[in-house]
Amino acid sequence: MVTSDSPKIIVLGIDGLEYNLVEEWRLKNIMQKTYCKLDLSDYKVIVTTPIWGSMLTGKIDEEIMRIWVKRSEIMGGEKTVKQKWWAKFGLFLPPSVNLWLWVNVFEKFIGGDPFGRTANYILEKKELTIFQFFKNSWTNGIPSYGKNTSTTIKRDLMKQAILKEKTPYRNHVIQNYKDDKAQLFSVLEKPEIDFVFWYTSLLDDLGHIDMGRPVALMMKHYLDINEVVGRVKETRPDSIIYVISDHGMKPSKGILGTHSNHAFFSSNSGETIEKPFQLYNLISKHKSG
Ligand SMILES: [Zn+2]
Repeated sequence: MVTSDSPKIIVLGIDGLEYNLVEEWRLKNIMQKTYCKLDLSDYKVIVTTPIWGSMLTGKIDEEIMRIWVKRSEIMGGEKTVKQKWWAKFGLFLPPSVNLWLWVNVFEKFIGGDPFGRTANYILEKKELTIFQFFKNSWTNGIPSYGKNTSTTIKRDLMKQAILKEKTPYRNHVIQNYKDDKAQLFSVLEKPEIDFVFWYTSLLDDLGHIDMGRPVALMMKHYLDINEVVGRVKETRPDSIIYVISDHGMKPSKGILGTHSNHAFFSSNSGETIEKPFQLYNLISKHKSG
């Protein structure tokens, strides 16, 4: 156990962590001292990258949001955005044809893969972030800040998962999660680090293919995350720990899962926020030095 008082702040960013399931399964470590639902009504579409970006900068980037609105206008699935009438024909096509159309026609039509285009926007725009408040911060990468959650290999495995075989996709996602976990516990051993922002896409990635099944299929992953939070607390008993998600996940049509319209937050300090972008202000109150 490391007994130094740093890092003083640890953010555990759990993409797709569903508030209702944390409550239903009574995941005490994740719930911490105080937990609450986050309101997402300020976000035009509930998609991963702009929400994480807003936590880091304290504001919603409307230019980036427009890229995602365009995607939703074609792909649908977002109640707040009206799908183009001609794009609805995709629903009647076989999944293989629909996928081909998306990758080869529609995605080019909206200017290319939104994940790739926005994966680094905060660094590219040189925006000020919560990392400025600390001397030695660390992150394993966050969507908008050095993490592309839709790499070529993952996209290919996702296609395969939609069309026939889900196991290779699941294995890939779980391996990434294991690597991220190893990085987290290795950095917690370093006393010079004063701010940790750890991110995992596990529950969003698996939620998209497994939330529509009996939801219990997701339970083992929630239990694992619960154990991770517990281990972080044991390793760093003096740190302030926040657990936050960008949105939850819920079953959608067929066997797939989709984003729910609220997110999750908890703290071991008793502090709360109401919206994801308020994380920025909360963190600023604890700046180093
Ligand atoms: Zn997400």
